[in-house]
Amino acid sequence: MAHPVRKGGSNTPETWLSLTGTMAQFAPEYSPVKTENILYKGTTYVPIRAAAEILDKDVIWDTATMTATIRDKKLPVEDTPTVEIPNDTTNQQQTELTVGLTYKGKTDVLSLRSNGQLVKKINHYELDMGEGKPISIYVTDDYERTYGNGFAYEEIKEMILSIEKKRGFKPYALSSSKLDVFFYTNESDTPLPANNQASAEVGTGQFNRGNGVPVEILMNGSNMHRDHRQILVHELYHYFDHQWVLNNGETYTKYWGQDAYFWYMEGSAEYAAYSFYNYPANSKNMLRPYNITNDKESMLRYIKQQEGLKSNIKNIQLNHFGDIMLVSNSNYGVTLSLFSYLSQQFGYDKVYDYISYVGQQFSNTSTITTAQRDDAAKQHFGKTEKQILNDWLVYFDYFSSAAN
Ligand SMILES: [Zn+2]
Repeated sequence: MAHPVRKGGSNTPETWLSLTGTMAQFAPEYSPVKTENILYKGTTYVPIRAAAEILDKDVIWDTATMTATIRDKKLPVEDTPTVEIPNDTTNQQQTELTVGLTYKGKTDVLSLRSNGQLVKKINHYELDMGEGKPISIYVTDDYERTYGNGFAYEEIKEMILSIEKKRGFKPYALSSSKLDVFFYTNESDTPLPANNQASAEVGTGQFNRGNGVPVEILMNGSNMHRDHRQILVHELYHYFDHQWVLNNGETYTKYWGQDAYFWYMEGSAEYAAYSFYNYPANSKNMLRPYNITNDKESMLRYIKQQEGLKSNIKNIQLNHFGDIMLVSNSNYGVTLSLFSYLSQQFGYDKVYDYISYVGQQFSNTSTITTAQRDDAAKQHFGKTEKQILNDWLVYFDYFSSAAN
């Protein structure tokens, strides 16, 4: 089976990626690119291979549709756990599921990631959210056999509602929004990527102009060795963000540098995965949950699991939130700890007020001064980013318990 997934830098076609407007096609993470670029009819183009290299991402080249997609190479959360955490179910409440799925039979369907080939005879469920287009959920027989009928996907409605309650909008109600979710395994005989763990993507060339955008989530059970409902919530949270991030993409990268999206998109998705939704006890299979919670000890453990050692950030100046991706080596525990800290200290809504403010305030500004940046942070948090980062490091003992 052909999986045209190449590591950045190998024979990727010289595809040029438009950097105009939103950078939503970089789903789920984004970056500005320092590379040779060309200006053509007012649009800056960069080689997609170079972009992927800088982003540490894979490039998928789809010969059928002549499109290229950049996607996560280092996938969140699943990094081999080195610390076994006892299965703690004391916080898990039984949630009454209002499943709302309609089985539509088996169907043949294209995925953004199926290389132009149809995913054949896959079970199709529709989830009606009461507004907008129904959400399509595609599940292979092998996934159902392996994890139990309904596992994870029958909770999508509740998961979305739990995020909606916090974010305060309904992405599925936007006229151009759409959500397809695929659940499969490597034994399922589909053209879906075997090396994928989980992803939430916007198709190449699709932009959110305010009416939403189609998003596709892939969940490959074979590459997730724990209860992957938490990863599903993480990806569903990205679906919300893709409907929310308008043409501010360049503003954010201008403001926070190439790590712009890591600190809040990944941080908030992690935060949501471990605190928004009450996971019902898993009666369908033996998969154990991650048991990462938003308390200090748990996050320190997670940082350590994700190889976030103190040495990674030693002697490096943290000037703004966008600095944490590179200095932590894309450590999802680190970004979770920062987002969680901000939410706890200043309030979750305040964090989004601030991000929105930055997106609007600086969209037409070519240079941003330190004073302007400090004012923006002070206006929302009463402190500069640098001061907050200092406090955050102190709060987490500078990751001392994670240091060697
Ligand atoms: Zn993510």
